[in-house]
Amino acid sequence: VIEIRNLHKAYGALEVIKGVDITAHKGDVVSLIGSSGSGKSTILRCANLLEDSQQGDILFKGEPVKWKGEGLLRHPADAKQVLRIRTNLSMVFQQFNLWAHMTILENVMEAPITVLGRDRAEVEKAAHAYLDKVGIADKHDAYPAQLSGGQQQRAAIARALAMEPEALLFDEPTSALDPELEQEVVRVIKDLASEGRTMMIVTHDMKMAADVSDQVIFLHQGLIEEQGAPDALFGVPKSERLRQFLSSTM
Ligand code: ATP
Ligand code: MG
Repeated sequence: VIEIRNLHKAYGALEVIKGVDITAHKGDVVSLIGSSGSGKSTILRCANLLEDSQQGDILFKGEPVKWKGEGLLRHPADAKQVLRIRTNLSMVFQQFNLWAHMTILENVMEAPITVLGRDRAEVEKAAHAYLDKVGIADKHDAYPAQLSGGQQQRAAIARALAMEPEALLFDEPTSALDPELEQEVVRVIKDLASEGRTMMIVTHDMKMAADVSDQVIFLHQGLIEEQGAPDALFGVPKSERLRQFLSSTM
């Protein structure tokens, strides 16, 4: 579904992604791990075209992103393509980013109605089903501030699912949560993985990465230092940097 080839990304003179290749086939769960500043969030933001890049290709379902310009300024050339890709790669953020002035139900219904132009009654029915799926059906009338962090994050996941995306992109979905609340979000992510959803997950939670991933990618300073199946990568890490990283996080 998502293919990133030889991606390069710089902020001004600072090159933060230095030639990265990642493929997430349909049904794959790919986790990105690595220390702070290694470029994990930047890769997700490039994948769904929140950021432009300098070099490389991004393909969505085999369709290459059309770029205009080369070298230092390279923006997607086709606004319709950008919208199609963004709506098909739903992001879930560390800080939930729910709309504070809307109820949970309204949060879930907003984008399918305004962005996709779906029928309100159908969207509402589906929204209740997604809230039920993440275990907060009873909270539909509450406002985000009235929910715990774990409930807010599950609402954010329901909102992402309501777009019926081809893939979900998670950027540290559990990092803002207390350990007990973290687990209720991990459970939802595990459910989604077992349903065969395509996902890219940036996480500090090595246990979750080990449990849900088909492939784990360890980034170091904008390059892939090691990648592989979780058993191999966590069980017998080859790179010294990965060994050090794992001993500092586990
Ligand atoms: P963390 O684990 O702390 O979230 P990360 O692996 O997600 O880190 P990124 O956020 O992708 O790292 O950042 C990679 C590098 O790019 C860092 O050196 C960061 O300072 C830099 N960077 C990120 N966003 C910007 C920006 N908008 N402008 C300038 N530099 C940026
Ligand atoms: Mg980050």
